[in-house]
Amino acid sequence: MRLEKYSLGIGDRFGLQGTHQLRAFRMAAEKGLQISPVWNKSNREHAIIGTHPSDTRAEADEAVRDLGWRGAYFVDADHIGAATVERFIDSSDFFTIDVAEFIGTPASGDAVRTFLGAMAPLTGAIVVPGLDEPMNVDESLLRAVAAKYLNAVKEAGRVYRMILSGRRGKEFIPEVSLDESDAPQSPEELLFILGAIGAEGIPVRTIAPKFTGSFLKGIDYVGDRGAFAREFEQDLAVVAFAAGSFHLPGDLKLSVHTGSDKFSLYPLMHRAIRRFDAGLHLKTAGTTWLEEVIGLAEAGGEGLRAAKEIYTLSLGRFDELCGPYLQVISIDRSKLPSPAEVATWSGDVFAGALRHDPVHPGFNPNFRQLIHVGYKVAAEMGHRFTDLLRHNAVPVGRNVTYNLYHRHIVPLFLGAGNPD
Ligand SMILES: [Zn+2]
Repeated sequence: MRLEKYSLGIGDRFGLQGTHQLRAFRMAAEKGLQISPVWNKSNREHAIIGTHPSDTRAEADEAVRDLGWRGAYFVDADHIGAATVERFIDSSDFFTIDVAEFIGTPASGDAVRTFLGAMAPLTGAIVVPGLDEPMNVDESLLRAVAAKYLNAVKEAGRVYRMILSGRRGKEFIPEVSLDESDAPQSPEELLFILGAIGAEGIPVRTIAPKFTGSFLKGIDYVGDRGAFAREFEQDLAVVAFAAGSFHLPGDLKLSVHTGSDKFSLYPLMHRAIRRFDAGLHLKTAGTTWLEEVIGLAEAGGEGLRAAKEIYTLSLGRFDELCGPYLQVISIDRSKLPSPAEVATWSGDVFAGALRHDPVHPGFNPNFRQLIHVGYKVAAEMGHRFTDLLRHNAVPVGRNVTYNLYHRHIVPLFLGAGNPD
């Protein structure tokens, strides 16, 4: 199943922006760059909005028909596990198998012995092309990886086989994600996690580790960029080496989750994937919803009124809305504007506070993060909200396409030398 070397996960909470999203991929294709769009939506998002995975499939198919898209495209069952995968089986063809909750749980003694036996040929000073120094691998490292990750990989195998039998021969892309865990995986750990995945018989195409630093929703990277760049390059080297060593697919690539808005990292990632001639999957974090609110604010009138109402209601339900996202947001409440102040804002002022333009004097990352998690409020507005999106399809769509193409695809995949 053809997944391009570069792919981009795109979320769309309300399912109305598929065509505007796909337009950004067409603009890249016009520049000679094929990127596979992957529409992703997690079980949690479906539950909050009240949608079904088949709705995401319908949206993707419709966007592809609308624009006559000839490239590959996918629908991602995002962060599924054994308990949630069933309803995604028919409509998804990309499965992000999330086994983070099994990290640190013990595997059976038999499983550990088999793993140690299979990896034994790779002990000693292992030369991984692209790494400055050989990797020193001994039994204690292998035992540590087994203790922490082997049972999680076993669980991924179980979920993979559920999908395989449920799909009845229809192909799909398996991803294994470890990003929602407590600690980042070192390149050494990543190598032997991939060894375990190969031994488990999962033909994994993308692997999502947890990277060093904080990947928060809707805002830029928080952490040491130099440390990230070193780790990212080591991971690229390890993934290429693992693909050749563990009978994994040759096009295995890294997947970066919560990858939207990491503007300070894109030049580093771009340089690294070019240097290693590596593929990359980058998953955005549902921020298309923010572009919808920006478009409504810019439209003025009823649109701006609804945008202000979404903020005011979200502020009033701060704890409830932020609760499920505490690990992935960081809001300074003292920097949130009062509803009375927001009531006086023009559409441009509102859009300036919300749009992720770090050099805009009005940009407020606290305001942005609160609205990011406030989509439940819009979902509760029901048709009033979705009708506004339909009536204001032009300003909304313009923001959706611009954000994906100019702020993400260009710096990450084309390089900053390609401004238009
Ligand atoms: Zn994730």
